[in-house]
Amino acid sequence: MEWCVSMPKLELHAHLNGSIRNSTLLELAKALGEKGVIDFSQVEHVILKYDDRSLKEVFKLFDLIHILTTDHATVTRITKEVVEDFASENVVYLELRTTPKKNDSIGMSKRSYIEAVMKGLRSVSSVDVAFVPHSEDSRTLLNPLPSAKNDNCNGDSRKKIFVRLLLSIDRRETTEAAIETVKLALEMRQFGVVGIDLSGNPSIGEWITYLPALKFAREQGLYVTLHCGEVPNSKEIHNMLDFHPERIGHAIFFEEEHWRKLKSSNIPVEICLTSNIRTLSVPSIDVHHFVDLYKSKHPLVLCTDDSGVFSTSLSNEYKIVANSFGLGMREMFELSRNAVEFIFADSGVKEDLRTYFNSVAKNME
Ligand code: 5GP
Repeated sequence: MEWCVSMPKLELHAHLNGSIRNSTLLELAKALGEKGVIDFSQVEHVILKYDDRSLKEVFKLFDLIHILTTDHATVTRITKEVVEDFASENVVYLELRTTPKKNDSIGMSKRSYIEAVMKGLRSVSSVDVAFVPHSEDSRTLLNPLPSAKNDNCNGDSRKKIFVRLLLSIDRRETTEAAIETVKLALEMRQFGVVGIDLSGNPSIGEWITYLPALKFAREQGLYVTLHCGEVPNSKEIHNMLDFHPERIGHAIFFEEEHWRKLKSSNIPVEICLTSNIRTLSVPSIDVHHFVDLYKSKHPLVLCTDDSGVFSTSLSNEYKIVANSFGLGMREMFELSRNAVEFIFADSGVKEDLRTYFNSVAKNME
């Protein structure tokens, strides 16, 4: 299914530190092992364990990953690599999310963390990255994608990718820290930050803690997406849906009433199949809620969540859907194209993407 790779795709739910190449993680772990900061022999097998990991184990792994990655130079490096990896499988629009981190011992503030991410975006060389709206770059934004004839796979024009950033609030954070993240997102809007994500261990924290920050984000015109229903928590799911975020991620432990509310509100769902199966949140692919949402034409988008941690890729997620549910190339293309309507970037980017997908569609006839 080469077409799953060559088809233009949009990635709307990718966590930066979950999307790191395993080779990079191993290299970073080795280097810290040599410095005596960690015991490499203890972490190697944890990094290389690709099969099922409970959600709890996944969050333990993130604590390890953050030890390996949280200095400015490494944040810049992983950002560059993650963008290059998505572009290499024909992701034409990427919304990358990450939790701004403060680490006084190495002089890192939430702002300097995000600046290191920006530096990573600027340092990508294998593909043209359009991430600054309304700037010098906007000229490239007008026609940012190779023409369908010279498409991403075999044309001679350079690959191009739009990138926008979402700043994540971790459920371990306080209300004040969450508001700080929203303020940072507002300051960084001119550099392509378009929204706020609520993520982190879903068994920790209370919805009410983040509500002031999320309301503030909304009042200021930022988009909001929430990790919703990763664990059974009926009240929180109701509260989240009542907030009416612009998108939600996962939507796993939903009861009848939640589905009714979701469907009547038309909130797009970011579907992360491999992640849900690997974390044992959904027992098997054939009972995944993708099927019901797809059949009822509910807005949805296929995403990777953590391509590094779960050893997947967006093309692989498309392949899984095509194989498991018998969808053909044209149906998968439409699934990808529909996602343009749920992106958080401005209408100019949307229009460019619509035009691009239309030209690809014509070539498919
Ligand atoms: P980062 O924000 O550090 O770039 O990416 C890793 C972080 O994203 C994790 O520490 C966690 O807060 C969040 N994250 C990654 N995958 C998941 C997931 O499947 N569910 C939830 N709730 N959070 C996640």
